[in-house]
Amino acid sequence: MYKYNYLKIALPVPLNTLFTYRFATNENLTGCRVLVTFGNNKRNLTGVVFEQFESDNSNNLNKIRDIVEVLDAKPVFDAKMLNFLQWISTYYISPIGETVKAAIPAGISPKTIMRILPVRETSEQAIQEIYRNNPTRYKIMDFLLNNTSAFTLEYLEKKLEINNIHYHITYLLERNLIAFEFQAKNIKSKIQKAIYLNDELMNDKEKLINTLNFLDKKSPKQSAIISFLLINNANINAPVLLTDIKLKIDTSLSVVNSLIKKKLINIVDIPVNRNARKSNIDKLATKNEAVLKLTDEQLFCVREIDAGMEGNSFKPYLLHGVTGSGKTLIYIHAIEKAISMGKSALLLVPEISLTPQLIDRFEIVFPQKISVFHSKMSDAERFDSWNAVHSGHSQIVIGARSALFAPLKNLGLIIVDEEHESSYKQSSPAPYYQARDCAMVRAKIENAAIILGSATPSMETYFNSEHGKIKRLEIKKRADKAELPKIKLIDMRSANTSGQVIHGFSRELIDKIKEKISRKEGVILLQNKRGFSNFIECKDCGAIPQCKHCSISLTFHQINQTLRCHYCGYTLKIIHICDVCGGTSLGRIGRGTQRIEEDLHSILASENVEANIVRLDLDTAGAKGAHRKILQQFANGGSDILIGTQMVAKGLDFDRVTLVGVINADIQLQLPDFRANERTFQLLSQVAGRAGRNSEKQGEVIIQTFQPHAYAINSVIKNDFIDFYNIEIAKRATSQFPPFTRFCVIEFSSLDEEKAMQHAQSFFSQLKHHQSLKFYLPQPPPIAKLNNRFRQQVVVKSDKSADAAGKYLRYVIASALEQYNKNTANSAVRIKIDIDSFSSF
Ligand code: ADP
Ligand code: ZN
Repeated sequence: MYKYNYLKIALPVPLNTLFTYRFATNENLTGCRVLVTFGNNKRNLTGVVFEQFESDNSNNLNKIRDIVEVLDAKPVFDAKMLNFLQWISTYYISPIGETVKAAIPAGISPKTIMRILPVRETSEQAIQEIYRNNPTRYKIMDFLLNNTSAFTLEYLEKKLEINNIHYHITYLLERNLIAFEFQAKNIKSKIQKAIYLNDELMNDKEKLINTLNFLDKKSPKQSAIISFLLINNANINAPVLLTDIKLKIDTSLSVVNSLIKKKLINIVDIPVNRNARKSNIDKLATKNEAVLKLTDEQLFCVREIDAGMEGNSFKPYLLHGVTGSGKTLIYIHAIEKAISMGKSALLLVPEISLTPQLIDRFEIVFPQKISVFHSKMSDAERFDSWNAVHSGHSQIVIGARSALFAPLKNLGLIIVDEEHESSYKQSSPAPYYQARDCAMVRAKIENAAIILGSATPSMETYFNSEHGKIKRLEIKKRADKAELPKIKLIDMRSANTSGQVIHGFSRELIDKIKEKISRKEGVILLQNKRGFSNFIECKDCGAIPQCKHCSISLTFHQINQTLRCHYCGYTLKIIHICDVCGGTSLGRIGRGTQRIEEDLHSILASENVEANIVRLDLDTAGAKGAHRKILQQFANGGSDILIGTQMVAKGLDFDRVTLVGVINADIQLQLPDFRANERTFQLLSQVAGRAGRNSEKQGEVIIQTFQPHAYAINSVIKNDFIDFYNIEIAKRATSQFPPFTRFCVIEFSSLDEEKAMQHAQSFFSQLKHHQSLKFYLPQPPPIAKLNNRFRQQVVVKSDKSADAAGKYLRYVIASALEQYNKNTANSAVRIKIDIDSFSSF
């Protein structure tokens, strides 16, 4: 008798249910991955065990399949994590299997190989029968029986040139003529050679001294290795990698080999972490901040958080500190506290590849203790990070959105840095989770403290701190006696009329830039649009060339003279004749980062100023490491001016920056998005905060705008978050947007415009009316076509005061979905359910 006979398994399929399989065992397998076959074609899938039980009372027991294989000796998820994943699946109305998939990094999923074998006991008669009935199947059987090895499906398909091979394979399998053989292929740990001193030599002082004396004369290189190992042994008492020895002393493999032959040293294979940093040369941080004396305001925050953590229960904080207030130092102290309590800590950052400096700052304080997760890692690197965390070797994780799922044990602290950032929202594939919100839930499940940090908190978070859901801690002054920068607005309307504008730059900004260059101080310029001119416009008919696949204007790129879609990448050679009217006077409108860079070069050259300009945007920072290099060059004075998109607004802490210029502050304000004002305020405040971070040099900010009276811009000059919050929150209340409502978008997209409309309509008609919910008739979003798919959206707003946890909302959407799936759904239309959609754009 076994303790368990059945498993309930989450599988990566778009059905929101757990699947039952058979497997008799006494072991607890919850949280382990298993390999199973699924569906009629018995394709094979990796799932995660959620439940295990003794008997199944459903009556179709005979349909239940056996699992193929258990893949983990140790669960990948503990009970708390399973609980967390279940919550995400429910809240975001996302199938449990797909949710689990999002939580397992690609690198650790075994890539399984399925091979096909013939059943060799098959009678001659059965073979003859196949031959008569179906020559194609015979071809397969004949081939298999005449070979001794097994073959993959893909191989057979190509080799035997059979279409629809699945169909035949299923037939043969069901009649027991063939069988499957599975082989799971995990990424292997990286192994390197390491050496250590022979025990005998270590324990025999006399022999050691004699050996050293002898080698000193005969072979100094061998002696050098022995000495190196001796010191190392006193120090860390572990084998030393050969590659590390070669970095320190001039030696070769033959020297090592002769020591091994003499039995003075031993050699072993050890697994190494691919992410171990090899050099310190390109670090973007130099000082260990942990030793800094806390300011009074910082000290107050640290004490509060320490006390909270000692309670060992869920404690949420908003750390609202102006730019340069030293929030990082508070994170450092909180992490130290967690570690000292024997707990682990998770630091989420908006987009790691965008914040290389931040990682460096933490690595100086916690050397060798941090595991990093980000989107530019290879599968193998991610596998190593994941293993380091899962095995308990590393107790600190820094990562972007998906690090939310890092398998940390005994989690004591979560920090969400720049909690207002839009990149915390997952955009594709499902589940469309908001990592900051989910971090709150994970902290609750783990009984951990959580710190949401920002100089410009999101409306949601600040609102929660006003209503006692989150404890607010404030830092109003900059650390290290630095002053907040002086901010000046330039009204581009009047500057234009008085002829004070050259290529989009006001006279005042140009003069300031020149002044800073002459003093060798750093200048950051923000233009939140990449490319050259934004668009090409026909002066005769006003037409702007559009993307073939998306309803969006193409952006002009000067370097290769192309027009490019920033959504799908569609690229066109520049045109000189208007597609619409045949006119030939095509002009450029708007300015992207490329054009700003070029214009500034020519302005400065014409005024006899030499300047080195670097540009930071998706076009220049694409390659691995490119971003770091650009910042490096700017940080050490190799370039005078850093021009870029919002990438220059994020987290940079460079002493030499004393001027920040915003070329056009209005770009984001014009978007048809309920967060347009919030995002404008945040971006401008954040970029302004890059100036004057050193106590010796006052920072200055110049913001150019055509809308000097817009409140989002005005509150920035006043450095007044509360001012902005009060106006914005009142607007959100009257227009019923978050944080007062849950804003959800259900999108239907199809290559066929008509079908998208029909499906949206059919879903809409299923929504049950309720006083706490508001539905809006299906409509195309501003970008009505994306990647050739026509889009229709049903917007749902749910009043939080009537439906606090969103239960009713989920019930209504889930039941409409059920009806829709029954009556209308088909593969021509894709549906995307986005709970807490980030924007209405
Ligand atoms: P924030 O993240 O709040 O914008 P940072 O953490 O980047 O601010 O800190 C700004 C600068 O001030 C950093 O260079 C940091 O090392 C420095 N700093 C922070 N706290 C102190 C302190 N107590 N004493 C001296 N310098 C500090
Ligand atoms: Zn496109």
